[in-house]
Amino acid sequence: MRLKTFKGGIHPNDMKEISMDQPITMLAPGKEMVYLMSQHIGAPAKPVVKKGDPVIIGQMIAEAGGFVSSPVYSSVSGTVKALEKRKNALGDMVDAIVIENDGQDTETEYATAELDALSKEDIIKRIQDAGVVGMGGAGFPTHVKLSPKEPDRIDHILVNGSECEPYLTSDYRCMLEKSDELVQGLMCILKVFPKAEGVICIENNKPAAIERMREAVSGRDRIRVEVMQTKYPEGAERSLIYAITGREVNSSILPADVGCIVNNVDTVIAVYEAVIKGKPLMHRIFTVSGDAVNNPKNYDVRIGMSYADIMEEAGGFKSRPEKLISGGPMMGFALFGLDVPVTKTSGAITCFLKDPVKEAVTTPCIKCGRCVKGCPAHLMPCDLSDIAEHGDKDRFAERYGMECVECGSCSYTCPAKRPLAANIKAMRRTLLAERRKK
Ligand code: SF4
Ligand code: SF4
Repeated sequence: MRLKTFKGGIHPNDMKEISMDQPITMLAPGKEMVYLMSQHIGAPAKPVVKKGDPVIIGQMIAEAGGFVSSPVYSSVSGTVKALEKRKNALGDMVDAIVIENDGQDTETEYATAELDALSKEDIIKRIQDAGVVGMGGAGFPTHVKLSPKEPDRIDHILVNGSECEPYLTSDYRCMLEKSDELVQGLMCILKVFPKAEGVICIENNKPAAIERMREAVSGRDRIRVEVMQTKYPEGAERSLIYAITGREVNSSILPADVGCIVNNVDTVIAVYEAVIKGKPLMHRIFTVSGDAVNNPKNYDVRIGMSYADIMEEAGGFKSRPEKLISGGPMMGFALFGLDVPVTKTSGAITCFLKDPVKEAVTTPCIKCGRCVKGCPAHLMPCDLSDIAEHGDKDRFAERYGMECVECGSCSYTCPAKRPLAANIKAMRRTLLAERRKK
């Protein structure tokens, strides 16, 4: 059978075997928990607590700063220690609420619900109130994503279970261990879009997850499992939509404009918890992997816990790592330290004894075309990188540089070790910032 896929892409060693076979382990939260006010795309959340206030698990500590925003909840019980600036994973100082954990785990009561008794509006409101955002990295508030201009046009709800990024296995473990919650979360979303079918998309390097999810959806006529070719970046939103529907999305339109809404596995499970259990988003599944780690596996961590506490609880390092990445090696970013908190969008830390990028020697382009062949956006990364290095913004836009999805495939395949993706990404970010200012 021909597997679904997109044009372009590459085949990096997936390195999933390091962490994929171990069950998810619950980690105890740290003594000090830090909740950033910007954990999502849109306006930052606004604190509703002050220094000295007692808090319990499930209590709102910051309200949404607008429609495109999301509230933040305490994941521990304790006392508000400070409202101050703290470092995020990118190294920027941002507003945060710091809570001293009392270790008592005192928790609020949640209002559970039956899906049959909820209207579409009720479902979206419960998701909004629970602070659910896209947990695959983008952090787009889910209630906004589920409120497109033309809801009747939505015919596909895609669940991104491809997890194409090397080393990461949290979605895989969730599909094995939380398959029923995933299906119930998808049923909640499908109730909002009665004309849509639900498609759970999984790469063919995860046969156990495919089997488990097929069992979980059996008898549900609006949900199917689709097996995808293992190829990077299969899980990029545009790649996934093309692979399943043959429809193309570019930077000037949204997936909803072609009838699709894409959510990742963790997000759909958070939807289930919000809608059915009435629980706000306070924890997530987090992959710890790489050759520098003692106990690589997936952990259930509370939002607000520091990467340092996670690494300590997870058994620490074999020896001092040369490179720490928040996320995976293709789309993640270098960490300058572990003193940063987990947010709703932090999915992994990958730790390496050696930094291959630091040791790479860049040589002139040999015109091999590998970067062009692998680009999922059908761009000319070799040219775009040169244009970006020369700072030619107009030419960069004319050559469709804004269509780059920042997947890193071009740099990975380049035999001359040219920093193609880094150059293109830097120029793209500059232009995006300028457009936002205008
Ligand atoms: S140009 Fe952008 S989209 Fe194309 S391979 Fe490079 S990083 Fe990926
Ligand atoms: S992959 Fe590297 S060497 Fe090959 S064409 Fe692209 S930039 Fe040049």
